[in-house]
Amino acid sequence: MTKFALVTGGSRGIGRAICITLAEMGYNILINYQSNETEANNTLALVKEKGVSGEIMKFNVSNQDEVNAVLGTWIENNKDKEIAVLVNNAGIRKDNLMMWMSDQEWHSVMDIAVDGFFYVTRLIIKNMLVKKYGRVINVVSLSGLKGLPGQTNYSASKAAVIGATKALAQEVGRRGITVNAVAPGFIKTDMTHDLNEKDFKSLIPMNRFGEAQEVADVVAWLASDKSTYVTGQVISVNGGLYS
Ligand code: NAP
Repeated sequence: MTKFALVTGGSRGIGRAICITLAEMGYNILINYQSNETEANNTLALVKEKGVSGEIMKFNVSNQDEVNAVLGTWIENNKDKEIAVLVNNAGIRKDNLMMWMSDQEWHSVMDIAVDGFFYVTRLIIKNMLVKKYGRVINVVSLSGLKGLPGQTNYSASKAAVIGATKALAQEVGRRGITVNAVAPGFIKTDMTHDLNEKDFKSLIPMNRFGEAQEVADVVAWLASDKSTYVTGQVISVNGGLYS
């Protein structure tokens, strides 16, 4: 059976690096994105350079109808294909102090991280249970472990996904499915382009921001058969920042 990996938010940043690295491992890649079709197609071209196939898949992870219509239909129409790896990576930041935070800033961040994890994973886990194999990897954040001021929404959303990671790992472990989370610190992507590395790097023991590839390499290890007895864990990739 042809094996696929689905990466939510695969069009840019950390998600793109994950798509390319999983393609190097031989997985065909489903590249989810919300709006930036140009960058999704750029990722697809980079994936195909690795000699595997791929598709771009547009849906908003926090919209249940879109997830069911696009991803649910793909699963229904591709019974000869198996999504063996799911990386829940889509996420946004809308920082504000709690006292100034709008409903929209709170809910958009929570919905994409938490509802997105739920809608997508619920669809995929069913077939993993049938196949008795699967790798679910959730991209969370230092913010969800430590809490960061100005990010009550983002910290809460990532902490929720960490809790769900630990619970789901216990539900599906007997079926050969591992569920883990990777918690990046400061990584150079569009999401952090407003943060000046010079202002923050003295806080980081390794004295620099990380690269998307450095996160992708840990995700790849969790997706591989080198991590068969690791589940329910949160692995930090943050240059030694206290978490
Ligand atoms: P990014 O460069 O801003 O890319 C975000 C990706 O998520 C894009 O592919 C975007 O798609 C997609 N996306 C956003 N909302 C979506 C939605 N509702 N449905 C589907 N896709 C959606 O971000 P990044 O820095 O690579 O972050 C990736 C993950 O790592 C996030 O979960 C983030 O919270 C986490 N993280 C990042 C850092 C960091 O320092 N960068 C640190 C800790 C954790 P479009 O291209 O269509 O917009």
